[in-house]
Amino acid sequence: MANNIQAIRGMHDVLPEQTPLWQYAEQVIREVLGAYGYSEIRLPIVEKTELFKRSIGEVTDIVEKEMYTFEDRNGDSLTLRPEGTAGCLRACLEHGLLNGQVHRLWYYGPMYRHERPQKGRYRQFIQLGVETYGMAGPDIDAELIVLMDRLWKRLAIRDKVKLQLNSLGTVAERQVYRERLVAYFQDHAAQLDEDSQRRLLTNPLRILDTKNPAMAELVANAPALMDYLGADSLQHFQSITALLDDLGIGYEINQRLVRGLDYYGKTVFEWVTDELGSQGTVCAGGRYDGLIEQLGGKANHAVGFAMGIERLLALMETVGDYPLAKPVDVFMIRVGETAEKVGLRFAEQLRDALPALKLQVNCGGGSFKSQFKKADKSHADFALILGDDEAAQGVIGCKSLRIEAPQQTLSLEQAIAFLGEHFQNRAV
Ligand code: ATP
Ligand code: MG
Repeated sequence: MANNIQAIRGMHDVLPEQTPLWQYAEQVIREVLGAYGYSEIRLPIVEKTELFKRSIGEVTDIVEKEMYTFEDRNGDSLTLRPEGTAGCLRACLEHGLLNGQVHRLWYYGPMYRHERPQKGRYRQFIQLGVETYGMAGPDIDAELIVLMDRLWKRLAIRDKVKLQLNSLGTVAERQVYRERLVAYFQDHAAQLDEDSQRRLLTNPLRILDTKNPAMAELVANAPALMDYLGADSLQHFQSITALLDDLGIGYEINQRLVRGLDYYGKTVFEWVTDELGSQGTVCAGGRYDGLIEQLGGKANHAVGFAMGIERLLALMETVGDYPLAKPVDVFMIRVGETAEKVGLRFAEQLRDALPALKLQVNCGGGSFKSQFKKADKSHADFALILGDDEAAQGVIGCKSLRIEAPQQTLSLEQAIAFLGEHFQNRAV
């Protein structure tokens, strides 16, 4: 079978045995976002290439080498979204959502980057994006952090992630800093690796983000951006840390945290873990007021974050103890011609009465023994059993597949009452 077509490298299937963990995380994410009054926005996966070039910046890793860009049949250059911030803002500007309004939005879905696939780094990956508009902060900056803190707690991984915080100041402050930084690195040009030499000319702040251990000392001794911040930026930053202190949320100030994207200003943060090897950033974000004008809008405020769901799930797998939903609660066994007919009717009546019950009916026949095997394999809690005798009397057998208990014979009404009672307190 050497010719079987396989998935694209770095793009993964999520198989049925894995989906309950995804669904659990997704449900908790929705609940937490709901608890803060955030609304979902749904966006296209493909946008004009120009949008990403203009927003993310030409000299970032993403635009330089990671985008899936292609010409469509009209000859337009399109790109599979590498991130969601640009598209979300594009949509809000396009529909006039930012005219004097405040928004708290989220989206969830696949992003595409042509990176070297490895653990925690894929070519198609899922992000939760959260974006807020129209709020100057620092309270909204802090709200996003508190929201994430709540999410970690709800997912039982709070002790596995740490918050790193920094301020990038304003464009003008960064410009002065940038010159000093370039001068510093030029003085030590011999110690720069190839990537950093390139970045020195294009995006020198990114050198601070290097993962090359040989450059760690050079970077540690570089001028610190914090020393170049003006009063307003410093005040904004200090207000956030004061709010976090007040709420008891710990953080570490990391002056080398600059983020890969060009559009951030003032607040930047990352939630990192050391349980996932080198791909340790689970969630990253910050303030990006400047992007709105860059995309043609009126001066406004924006702050948001993006979370890598595969990395989140990898962390959750280290915990492993979640109340995951099962696909089947009850498995119906039908043996005999009448039983098959009556069983289908019973099943529909059960579904009418108990819409949340997950009832799987055996299809394709088979002996009692083989159908019981399938019932067991389905991980159902109960088997409903229907032979021609039961069918003729209008009753149904009900047997627990979890505990040793005698089989009961129930009328349909009794079965509805019994199963309704049993599954009332089901896990999510
Ligand atoms: P990194 O430094 O790991 O490349 P980044 O700065 O490119 O991250 P962002 O663009 O900020 O990442 O994306 C936010 C989050 O999305 C990351 O913190 C990470 O959890 C996740 N993420 C980014 N790229 C990938 C990828 N290729 N595969 C899986 N998750 C990813
Ligand atoms: Mg990256």
